[in-house]
Amino acid sequence: MDFFGKNVFNDAVMRERLPKNTYKALHKTIDEGLPLQLEVAEVVANAMKDWAIENGATHYTHWFQPMTGFTAEKHDSFISPTHDGKVIMEFSGKELIKGEPDASSFPNGGIRSTFEARGYTAWDCTSPAFLREDAGKVILCIPTAFCSYTGEALDKKTPLLRSMETISKQALRILRLFGNTTAKRVTPTVGAEQEYFLIEKKYHQKRLDLMLTGRTLFGVLPPKGQEMEDHYFGIINERVTAFMQEVNIELWKLGVLAKTQHKEAAPGQYEIAPIFTSTNIATDHNQIVMDTLHKVANRHGLACLLHEKPFAGVNGSGKHNNWSLCTDEGVNLLEPGKTPHENAQFLTFICAVIKAVDEYAALLRASAANPGNDHRLGANEAPPAIISIFLGDELSDIIEQLKNGKPNSSKQGGELTIGVSTLPSLPKDSTDRNRTSPFAFTGNKFEFRMVPSSLSIADPNVVINTIVAEVLTQMANRLEKAKDFHGELQAILQEIAIQHSRVIFDGNGYSEDWVKEAARRGLPNLSSTAEAISALISEKTTELFKNHGVFSATELHSRYEIYLEQYSKTINIEALTMVDVAKRQILPAVMRYSTELANSINTIRTADPEADVLAQRSLLNELSPLLKELSLKTKALQDATSTAKHLHGDAYKQGIYYRDVVFKAMQELRQVADKLEVLVDYDMWPLPSYTKMLFRL
Ligand code: ADP
Ligand code: MG
Repeated sequence: MDFFGKNVFNDAVMRERLPKNTYKALHKTIDEGLPLQLEVAEVVANAMKDWAIENGATHYTHWFQPMTGFTAEKHDSFISPTHDGKVIMEFSGKELIKGEPDASSFPNGGIRSTFEARGYTAWDCTSPAFLREDAGKVILCIPTAFCSYTGEALDKKTPLLRSMETISKQALRILRLFGNTTAKRVTPTVGAEQEYFLIEKKYHQKRLDLMLTGRTLFGVLPPKGQEMEDHYFGIINERVTAFMQEVNIELWKLGVLAKTQHKEAAPGQYEIAPIFTSTNIATDHNQIVMDTLHKVANRHGLACLLHEKPFAGVNGSGKHNNWSLCTDEGVNLLEPGKTPHENAQFLTFICAVIKAVDEYAALLRASAANPGNDHRLGANEAPPAIISIFLGDELSDIIEQLKNGKPNSSKQGGELTIGVSTLPSLPKDSTDRNRTSPFAFTGNKFEFRMVPSSLSIADPNVVINTIVAEVLTQMANRLEKAKDFHGELQAILQEIAIQHSRVIFDGNGYSEDWVKEAARRGLPNLSSTAEAISALISEKTTELFKNHGVFSATELHSRYEIYLEQYSKTINIEALTMVDVAKRQILPAVMRYSTELANSINTIRTADPEADVLAQRSLLNELSPLLKELSLKTKALQDATSTAKHLHGDAYKQGIYYRDVVFKAMQELRQVADKLEVLVDYDMWPLPSYTKMLFRL
């Protein structure tokens, strides 16, 4: 309580430090979305600077989220020269609201060419400024949006804010129809559960693949994996506990509501989850969480891996994006209450989500696509690449009833008795959970469980907000015109239940049967990033985002280009890394070991011509053909990579080539190397083993 939010220029600080009318004017912008006046910014800038300097800051930065997926910053000190050779500390309203980074040096998907450099960062006053402490140096970080000279969004934040505006507007139209005249804003809320791995830093530094690509490109499974199911929720050892506590303290100082921490299913895997908050803040906070995990791990001699699949054969990491809608009066619009069948407003919002997810399944899938996630989706550890919704018994039953008319009952959970008189009987939830569903209703929110662990949550939330806003728009258009509101509403909900319940699936999403069943239902199954992101430039998507002012066609196209490029570049870097490690580390190590074996045979035979050296000989016989295979596969991968490079004229074709040819060549090379790993002397193998990385903490 003493230090929570101590490094945040939050509401309490603003109320204390800003003149009353400035504070009020700023709140009009934050709460109601009214334009910000420069005079207000001027006063806020000054107060912010004084506060930052009192807390040790010398620099400020516009902190933004370009299309790299990371955050970006450039530091400027507050100093300003005076005529007597000294300095004063200054920070103007203009410096607060606007910065000017070079737009062509960030991924821009062709929106800006190298000579068209101008870009702007603009203060996002809805997410509070904060002080970051790095090695004792304090920097004032101002969350900003980043756009080009021509006004196009070049970041993850701008479209997110736009999508929040559209869903607020459309949800309010629905609320008004239900008689609510007082709510001023509806905010999508998000709680992002973040999974990660921890390994010894010294092993990380010895693995070029981890350093350059975030995942191991070689390596065999240890004799023990996760089959004992003893890691999930297991006791956290002292070293990791100390790490987690420091992470929490850093996060709490920054106002991040770090709440839950536990061991995850795979050895070496952990999770952290904050309490939910409004989507743009949750997005900023998730970036801060990822940065903090890296930073604190480093201090503890550890390396934090945020890649979706750092270890083959072991569960990878994801991010669960919990999403709901909340009014400024504090009402959760996805709260069913005790008798959801009678709660027409709740059913309206639920049906809007169902229709949105069904209609825009491919787009939603695309929003969770990155090269790392291709290793997870559909691999029985994460949801399949097919989008479906889990509603649970109670709601599924109500949707069934809706198909035939007005629903008239809600299944109740009742009590759960454990059969021991000293244990309390528990109120039973009306619905079980389902961990195989990509989009699950979990009581009063939806959990989008397909999101990759390293991705900014902005992308999926832009899509969820906009597609739900679209269906709410369609509903509001009809309902506002209707003479009989209740009759029309019933008709709309019934239509949705009939037309869109194909997306509802409560069974086992990991099973083969579901893949077939989904195909029969006509649900898209887009297994790789290269295919999935085509949904970004379909006519339907372009229309959707244009209508809601979230993306122009140009902006969408640029994002499509960026994602395809990132996909190809990622595989290219992985391929080159493999070639490098194979040629310069594995091949020489195997040769050294073979020579050692040969020398051993010769030495023993010289000492005793009768000696039996069968063991050495057969090992050598096994190694030699594999060594040859290794060098052939390395060459094949090298060739595939250079062919791929030459396809750069057509980004899509290139992406597919990387997926089908280069990626396959990588797998073949890995297979040979992994066979060698189990033959070569443990101490001579150049890469730290999976056993060491996963079990020695
Ligand atoms: P589980 O692992 O069972 O899914 P966790 O407690 O790890 O549960 O995570 C649940 C997440 O959902 C938390 O971040 C929580 O704050 C968030 N959450 C709860 N209610 C809402 C809501 N109304 N809107 C968005 N997120 C929510
Ligand atoms: Mg969860």
